[in-house]
Amino acid sequence: MDIRTVLRDGEGGHRLSEEEAAALLKVRGRGIFPILSAADALREERAGPVVTYVRNQNIHLTNICKNLCGFCGFGRNEGDEGAFCDDTEMIKKKVALARSRNVTEICLLSGVHPRFTMETYEEIIGTVHQAAPGVHLHAFSPDEVMHAARQSGITTREVLERMRSAGLSSLQGTAAEILADPVRSVICPKKVSTAEWVGIIREAHLLRIPTTATIMYGTCETEENRARHLALLREIQEDTGGFTELVPLSYVYQNTRLYRNGIAGPGASGREDLLLTAVARLFLYNFRNIQVSWGKLGVKLGQLALLAGANDLAGTMFSDDVSNDAGAAGADYLDPAMMEIMVRDIGRPLRQRRTDYSLVEGKPG
Ligand code: SF4
Repeated sequence: MDIRTVLRDGEGGHRLSEEEAAALLKVRGRGIFPILSAADALREERAGPVVTYVRNQNIHLTNICKNLCGFCGFGRNEGDEGAFCDDTEMIKKKVALARSRNVTEICLLSGVHPRFTMETYEEIIGTVHQAAPGVHLHAFSPDEVMHAARQSGITTREVLERMRSAGLSSLQGTAAEILADPVRSVICPKKVSTAEWVGIIREAHLLRIPTTATIMYGTCETEENRARHLALLREIQEDTGGFTELVPLSYVYQNTRLYRNGIAGPGASGREDLLLTAVARLFLYNFRNIQVSWGKLGVKLGQLALLAGANDLAGTMFSDDVSNDAGAAGADYLDPAMMEIMVRDIGRPLRQRRTDYSLVEGKPG
């Protein structure tokens, strides 16, 4: 396959096929630069020059998890050293801290506690919502939706409706990892299947609950698996328009079982990180927003991803124990002043946004 022809056809409006996406993801050497440049040009056309970020706070409620995925250093069994599960008072304290930081979004990131039921999820949402009315609550993955449904003997649709009634604003498109069952059976065998993930996301979109889309790459999947994953996201978006953005999540390997057992190597290379961002931009014609996970890539590679098709710097976060526990350095907090330096250095403006990508007036802060 001639890569220059693929890129030229793309410029002419041709929609990349899955095979073409896989071929682009395999390019090595200086051949990557025309791909990054084409993605950057398309980013300018589709999203403009502005780089956005959201002022948010991650809150970890528990690291006790029924799944214990091989790529995760965060999940624990109940009773393990370091295992925790917050009570209502602690949740309120964490939310109060988030509010004092003037966030517009609270993001709940936790293990899938084996004893949580629909009622537990409703209580958590209610507590956060009461303690921070008006703050966007972005929480729970399709795997947690399925868990609540099984635990309480109800449908996933009912779980979504009840979460929304309790105060959930948007659902996380996490637990997607790589949407290919042979890969899932190695890296996260206890999570929802590909079909279940797709079904719950479609259900959420039909209920007008927006979600993010994620891809966690760099364990033991192939470029074809990555392209298939992107193709599934593109199909869903074509039908529902319910994804707000793509969040590429590069595997952080250091403290994970997959790496220790020699099943996965030391994660994606810088070449793969930039190509994944660029190919996502070129392939996902129906996504406006492609995010940079600076907690996974670091500030310097993250800056380059903004020149490879990305238009959003995600959130300030204030805490990311999931990346920290897996071995990422400096994944906790990125000051908007540092974002401003990164973004100005590449000649682009930085603006604060809300979760729905509407812009916040005034200077970033
Ligand atoms: S990735 Fe999520 S579901 Fe898997 S072990 Fe970690 S916390 Fe649990």
